[in-house]
Amino acid sequence: MRKQTPSTYDLETDVVVIGYGYAGAVAAITAHDAGAEVTILEKMAQPGGNSRVSGGNCVIPRDSDEAVESFTDYLVELCFGTTPRDVVETLVREARGLVKWCADLGGELHIPEQLIVAGTYPRTVKGPGFPKVPGGQGTFDKYCLRGDAEVPPSLRLWNLLSANVAERSIDVQVRTAAQELITDDSGTVVGVAAERDGRRMTVRARRSVVMTCGGFENNPRLKQDHVPAKPLRFAGNPGNTGDGITMAQGVGADLWHMAPTSTIIGFQAPEFEAAFGIFFPSDGFVYTDRHGRRYVDETGVELHEFTRVCAHFDTEEVEFPRIPSWGIFNEQTRLAGPLTWNTSGYNRDLYRWSPDNSAEIDRGWILRADSVEELAERLEVSPEVLEATLSRYNAACESGVDTEFGRSAETLKPLEPPYYALPLHPTVLNTQGGARRDREARVLDPQGEPIPRLYSAGEFGSAWGFLYQGASNITECLVFGRIAGTNAAAQAAS
Ligand SMILES: Cc1cc2nc3c(=O)[nH]c(=O)nc-3n(C[C@H](O)[C@H](O)[C@H](O)COP(=O)(O)OP(=O)(O)OC[C@H]3O[C@@H](n4cnc5c(N)ncnc54)[C@H](O)[C@@H]3O)c2cc1C
Repeated sequence: MRKQTPSTYDLETDVVVIGYGYAGAVAAITAHDAGAEVTILEKMAQPGGNSRVSGGNCVIPRDSDEAVESFTDYLVELCFGTTPRDVVETLVREARGLVKWCADLGGELHIPEQLIVAGTYPRTVKGPGFPKVPGGQGTFDKYCLRGDAEVPPSLRLWNLLSANVAERSIDVQVRTAAQELITDDSGTVVGVAAERDGRRMTVRARRSVVMTCGGFENNPRLKQDHVPAKPLRFAGNPGNTGDGITMAQGVGADLWHMAPTSTIIGFQAPEFEAAFGIFFPSDGFVYTDRHGRRYVDETGVELHEFTRVCAHFDTEEVEFPRIPSWGIFNEQTRLAGPLTWNTSGYNRDLYRWSPDNSAEIDRGWILRADSVEELAERLEVSPEVLEATLSRYNAACESGVDTEFGRSAETLKPLEPPYYALPLHPTVLNTQGGARRDREARVLDPQGEPIPRLYSAGEFGSAWGFLYQGASNITECLVFGRIAGTNAAAQAAS
């Protein structure tokens, strides 16, 4: 039953933006510049969400109508028919204006030389994540904000956007968790109820509400219900608990894209809330399942699609045998660099992984063994199974032919003692699900009708409906943040 619309509010503004990551910042800046008074509600003490700790890369099509058309074809194909073409087309077309828009804010989006971290696995690629799908090759580039090399790209973009929010004196209420959308008798969204310091507060929105409150990376129940690989760890903002989904459902919004995620492989240290993304800095490594059996060409998995690889379920044993997996590696790989990038992820500001991984061995995160028997004992797997796995893998290294999984000869490096291993989980960077939106960033009901005065942007209900092209979530934050901000401000004040 609909709750009564309050007669008085604690705060009043034109546009309420829920969630202060990139999408919220962009929506707020745009709405402000279109003449609206804006209040941002942010649940956490530290704003920035996943955005602030991301890789900071975005995709932008090349500057021709053909490139826009082909890149759109490619992205539509990746969505497997779940996203109307006009939504993707809007996103791609409007992305062309992002370089200029950032320049107007005082930043420079550029194509970084060092986007690919050569020799690391999973591989980072400059071009399309799915080259066999037509339209991706040569039609777009990955950009990030130019700046001090010591400052991670995501933080540069966050600093630029948050500085622009501050310069405009946009009202930001932190530690304020939106809980409910307030509607009038006609179903029009007219405000937000939130909680701060255990107290309920209400904010009236004279024009509109924009939902930019991120995904459900840290909501075990929603992940259990919707995402096929279980359990799924997360690497980003612990505050992304899918609150927007409950709020949007409360006003009759349709949901979409609840199953797809952008998921890497990671390590959950017991001392930390978020997991570390794991990138092996050299070829001398394999993944095995929890029983010590290899299951894939380790160098061939698309960086963001580990749910698909790890979701395999064994109905006889009634288990996900690949969760956790083991990452087993050799001395050369251990010495080649830290297993995680210290430039992104929520743990970036909390822990610096050691360059030779020795501190993590000392902490007991990485296990070390001098023989296969000892390794098997430490991993609690059958020594015969592990011995067979490593023998087959080493034989493939010697012959240059991986008959099991087709890993390419130049990446086949033998595993000899000492052995190192750590448990690996599918680790979500971000979920894609949330309220369905159209090309005008309006939130839709199940009949496809817009819910009056409700907009959304960013990963809360993103356009990405099946496979995920890396670096397109941030593009969506920037493009749909602008569209949502413009349209939210354009509503007549009530
Ligand atoms: C480690 C990592 C690397 C990544 N790298 C890239 C990359 O290079 N390129 C790319 O395109 N994508 C990348 N992503 C994904 C991308 O960062 C996110 O999808 C994007 O930044 C989401 O932005 P957003 O503004 O929609 O949400 P967020 O930035 O997550 O912001 C949402 C905000 O809403 C707040 N919030 C939640 N609930 C409430 C509530 N009830 N009330 C008020 N506030 C609330 C949250 O605390 C949060 O601050 C990466 C993600 C991670 C974690």
